[in-house]
Amino acid sequence: MKECEVCGAQDFSKIQAKERMFGLNDPFEYLECNSCKGLFLQNIPEDLGKYYPANYYSFGNYAKSNSLSKALKKLRYEAFELGISLRPPNYFDWLSKLNVSKKSKIADIGCGNGQLLAELSYCGFKSLHGYDPFLNEPINSQGFSLNKIDFFDIEEKYDLVMFHHAFEHIPDPVHCFEKLVEILNPGGEVLIRVPVTDGEVWREYREFWYQLDAPRHLFIPHTKSMKILAERFGLDLFHISFDSFDSQFWGTELYKRGKPYVGTLIEKEFSQHELINFKKMATQYNANSIGDQACFYFRKDT
Ligand SMILES: [Zn+2]
Repeated sequence: MKECEVCGAQDFSKIQAKERMFGLNDPFEYLECNSCKGLFLQNIPEDLGKYYPANYYSFGNYAKSNSLSKALKKLRYEAFELGISLRPPNYFDWLSKLNVSKKSKIADIGCGNGQLLAELSYCGFKSLHGYDPFLNEPINSQGFSLNKIDFFDIEEKYDLVMFHHAFEHIPDPVHCFEKLVEILNPGGEVLIRVPVTDGEVWREYREFWYQLDAPRHLFIPHTKSMKILAERFGLDLFHISFDSFDSQFWGTELYKRGKPYVGTLIEKEFSQHELINFKKMATQYNANSIGDQACFYFRKDT
C-alpha cells in the first residue's frame, strides 16, 4: 500500500503482529497511517476461513426466548419508548439515538447467529434481515431472516444498516462505504460498532492489543478515519460514543504474557480485585474517549 485508502497520506508505521486468540502465532504485518491513524492488515491470507474455526464465538445457535419472556421483552421496550427504563439492554441505547420505527427495514451485517435480530423481533420490529457469508445455512424464522450473502452482494435497500463488530472484518473501508451509501434509503441510518485506534491500550501495548486480533481484523479505524469516510461519502456522522469493555485490559495482558484467549481461564489468571478494577477502568476510558472501541452513527440525506 503506497497511499492510505482513507485519507491519501503516504506515511505509515509498520506493526508486526501474531495470531493470538487461538495461540497459532502465525505472523502478520499491519500498516498504521500516520495521518488518519487507520490500521490496515497487509497481505490478507487467501484462506481466512482457517482463522474462523468452528469454536469461533458467533456461530452457536441463538437463544430463543419462551413466550412469557418474549411478552416481557415486548413490554420492557414499550415502557422504554414511554421513558421508563427497566434494566434496558445495550441495544435500547443504540435505538434511542436513531430515527427507526418498528416498520423500518433493518439489516445486520455479520449477524452471526442472529441473536440481536431475534431480540429486536421480540421488541416488535417487523423487517429484520441478517447477512453473514460464514453462516452454515440461511434461516427464515418467524421474526427475521438470516442470509448467507456477502455484504457486497446485497441488493435490497434499508432504513438502518448495522455493523456490530463486523466492519473490521471487511477489507477495503472505502469500497464498504460506497456499498453502504448504495443500499441506504434516503434518510437512512448506519450504526457501526468497531474497535478503534483511539484506545490508550493500543497506544501503550501495540502488537499485544487484544482487539488487533490478527489476521481477522482487516481494517481498524480511528475516529479521525471515520470522520473522513463520512465526509467523502456525504454521510452525516451525527454521534460517536465509546463502549469498550474490561477485556481490553485483561485480554491485552494475557497476550503480553504469551497466553491465548481460547483455552485460558481468565478467573485463574487475574484476581477478583483486578477484574473489578478493569471494569471500572473501562468506564473511565469510555468517558474520556480513550476506550478501544466505539459506536458511530451516520445518516444519509433525505
Ligand atoms: Zn490515512
